[in-house]
Amino acid sequence: MQWKETIKTDPGHDYPVIADVDVLVVGGGAAGVAAAETIGRNGNSVLLVERYGFCGGGAVAGLSGTICGLYMSTDAHNAVPEQAVFGFADRFLRRMIDLGGVTGPIRYGKTWTVTHDPLVWREAADGFLQDAGVQILYHCQVVGVIMDGDHFQGAIVNSKSGFGAVHAKRIVDASGDADVIYRAGLKTSKGRNGVMQNPTMIFRLGGVDVHAFNEYWGDDSISPKKVIDQLVDADPSGRTLPRKKIWIFNTTRPDELMVNSTRILGRDGRHLDVTDPVDHTEGELAAREQVRVYQNFLRENVPGCRDAFVVDTGVEIGIRQTRSIAGVKTLSNKHVTRRLKVSDGVVRSPWPIELHSGERPYVEWLLDDYYEVPYGTLVPEVGENLIVAGRCLSSEHEALASCRVTAQCFGYGHAAGAATVRSLKTEQRYRDIAGEEVRQALNEDGAGL
Ligand SMILES: Cc1cc2nc3c(=O)[nH]c(=O)nc-3n(C[C@H](O)[C@H](O)[C@H](O)COP(=O)(O)OP(=O)(O)OC[C@H]3O[C@@H](n4cnc5c(N)ncnc54)[C@H](O)[C@@H]3O)c2cc1C
Repeated sequence: MQWKETIKTDPGHDYPVIADVDVLVVGGGAAGVAAAETIGRNGNSVLLVERYGFCGGGAVAGLSGTICGLYMSTDAHNAVPEQAVFGFADRFLRRMIDLGGVTGPIRYGKTWTVTHDPLVWREAADGFLQDAGVQILYHCQVVGVIMDGDHFQGAIVNSKSGFGAVHAKRIVDASGDADVIYRAGLKTSKGRNGVMQNPTMIFRLGGVDVHAFNEYWGDDSISPKKVIDQLVDADPSGRTLPRKKIWIFNTTRPDELMVNSTRILGRDGRHLDVTDPVDHTEGELAAREQVRVYQNFLRENVPGCRDAFVVDTGVEIGIRQTRSIAGVKTLSNKHVTRRLKVSDGVVRSPWPIELHSGERPYVEWLLDDYYEVPYGTLVPEVGENLIVAGRCLSSEHEALASCRVTAQCFGYGHAAGAATVRSLKTEQRYRDIAGEEVRQALNEDGAGL
C-alpha cells in the first residue's frame, strides 16, 4: 500500500471555518495538556484538538502506566526519592494525588516512578483544561495544514461531520508524531536510520494476590533475575516471549498489577514503523496474542498470579517513538550522557537512557544528576508560528530514549506554552525568543529550573 506523502492546503480552500483562535494545540497527550493549560490560563483563546475521546495519549491510550522522570537516580544505600522536576508536572501530580489516582513512589531500578490510574488521568486533564478556559474538540484529527509560504496559519481537521478549517495565530504540534510538521512537508527523521524503539502493549492484570506477588517479586518493579531465568526457560528461542526483562507495577487498585512486558515486532521479525497503518495494524494483532502469552506465563510461574486475568490493554499499542523534527537545536546523545546544564534549558531530565530495542531493554543511569533540554529543540528549523511539544522534539536516537517520558513531556508542554504566551504578547517569532527568557517565565511559574 502506498500513502500520499503530504497534504498541503491553500488558505483559499473551501472548507468551513470551524474556529478562529489565538492558538491551536494538536494532541492532548501530556505535552498538549500542559501547553494548552499554560496558554489558556494566561488569557489566550485556545482550541485543543484530539483524535480520541479523552486526553492522555501514550500515558492513557497507550496505558504507559507510570509517570517517569520525576525523581533522581541514585546508588546510595537507603536513599529516599528526591523529586527533581516541578512546574506543570508537579501540579498534575498533586491533582492526581488529590483525586486518588496515583500511587506513592515505586522502585524502578535505581530510581522511582509513580503508577497512575488512566481513568483518573483523563478526568484530571479535563479539569485542568476546562479550568483554564481551553476549548476542547475530541474525536477530531488534524489532517492538513493551512500555510502561507513557511508561515502556518491554521490546520484542517476531519471528524464525522467532515472537514473543517481552524485558523490560528500559533500552533503547538503536540501530536507525538509531528503530524503538523509532516503534513506541511517539513523535515522529520525516524530513529536510527529508520529503526525506532519497539512498541509495547501494556496490560492490567486483575485477580492477583498482590501480597504474594510482592513477596516473590521484591520491591523493584524491574523483574528480578529469577524471573528473567524463568522467561528464558519458558521460551529459549524468544519466539513467543520475546522480552526477558519486564516491568510490573502495583497500582492504585486492589488485586491489580500493571504489566509492561511485550515487545512488538512484525511477524517476520522486522522493526515496525507505526506511522504506516499496515505496520500499525500488524502490531495491534501481534500485541493481542503476546499479551495472552505473558498472562499465561505469569499465571503458571509467578506466585499470586495463578487466578489472574487481563482486565484491559491499552486502547492501542504503546508507541515510544515515531518522527522527530529537525529543530533549531538537537538534543545530542553526548548532551545526555554528559548531563549538560545550559542557560537556555527549559526542561530538566534525570531519567536514564531506557532504550527498547533488542531482547532486553538497555538502561544507562544518570546517577545523582540530570541534564537540561535546550529551548531550540522545540523550534523547527523551518516553519513560522509553530512550536512542537513532546516526544517529537529534535533529538538523537539514544537521547530520545531518555527525554521522552511523561514528566519531561509535561515540561515540554509547559515550555512551549510559556514561549507561545510570550510570542503572542510581543509578536516575536519563536526562533527569536531567547531560551533564557522562556526559562525565566517557567521559573516564575514554579518550574524550579
Ligand atoms: C509502551 C510504553 C510505555 C511507556 N512507559 C512509560 C512509563 O512508564 N512512564 C512514563 O513516564 N512514560 C512512559 N512512556 C512514555 C510516555 O508515555 C510518552 O512518551 C508520552 O506519553 C508522550 O507524550 P506526548 O504528549 O509527547 O505524546 P503522546 O502521548 O503520543 O500524545 C499525542 C496525542 O496527540 C494525539 N494525536 C496524534 N496525532 C493527532 C492528530 N493528527 N490530530 C489530533 N490528535 C492527534 C494522540 O491521540 C495523543 O493523544 C511509555 C511509552 C510507551 C509507548
